[in-house]
Amino acid sequence: MKVLDVIILVVLLGLLGAALYLFYINLPGESIQFIVKNEQNNSKIIVGNENVSSSRSKQFYSNMRFPDREITYLVEDECNLDKQRQVLRAFDIIDEMTTLDFRQVLNNPQIIVTCSEIAPEPENKGHFIAGEGGPTQIINTSLYSVILEGKISLFRPEKCERPNIALHEILHVLGFDHNNNPKSILYPTLDCSQQIDNYFIDAINILYDSPGLADLKVSEVNAEKAGRYLDFEIKIINQGLNVAKSSSLRVFADGEIVKFEGGKESFDLGEIEIGTTKILTVENARIGRSANEVIFIVDQENNVDELFEDNNEIILDLTGN
Ligand SMILES: [Zn+2]
Repeated sequence: MKVLDVIILVVLLGLLGAALYLFYINLPGESIQFIVKNEQNNSKIIVGNENVSSSRSKQFYSNMRFPDREITYLVEDECNLDKQRQVLRAFDIIDEMTTLDFRQVLNNPQIIVTCSEIAPEPENKGHFIAGEGGPTQIINTSLYSVILEGKISLFRPEKCERPNIALHEILHVLGFDHNNNPKSILYPTLDCSQQIDNYFIDAINILYDSPGLADLKVSEVNAEKAGRYLDFEIKIINQGLNVAKSSSLRVFADGEIVKFEGGKESFDLGEIEIGTTKILTVENARIGRSANEVIFIVDQENNVDELFEDNNEIILDLTGN
């Protein structure tokens, strides 16, 4: 054999080897499925809603609160001066007793106060309805029942020294139900000696202890690995009190960043509203054939603070252990 033939043979064998290697690493291989769920449960009942008639008021749903301690309200012009004064005093009283901060606005209030001389028909004969109040828009995020809007209607003029009708209705808007203690401000029928029980103040201050932040949580990943490729579906919920702005997902396989289509190192998830779950499906993400673990991490731009910082990632173990 001539030297040239040997060289050609070596080159050909080399090319064959390279081709086989390329074929091997791109081989789809056996497909294996994985599922991992975030069992972490940050939810703890602060104020429950057990539906028992009790001397203490429960909330209509568990952990009802407005997003922030600052809550805006507007009193409609149709309310006469006396009713306007009563309701403003009532907001001031609760403002002073709690960490809440009520603020009167001219547009887009969270609580709207309306007035009417015509009261709705009561269910019980012999009673009259002095006012009505309650949340009108609520989102359940699993951590909280977030009150986005509430409404108060004042029908009867106030007869007590304290603005008891308005106080009663504001507590309804804050999510509290009636109780069966005749001395309590949230007893179904009104009496001027009724008081704001201390536990309302405690419950409000505990409910609003956390700041009104978003909270992204990776709740579930379903994945299928075939050779060096990973198909996955990821579920991300915002269980917090505020919209999550410009959030994105990054994926690491054995510490190496996994690139998305177009070579991008993160996948833009955009805004995630309160209580909303976003589901993202990705096919053929390239991780190594021998990757042992894939980590999925979601975050908001500029590392904005969240209610919980330890629920933003989930680890997928590919070793089958
Ligand atoms: Zn009531």
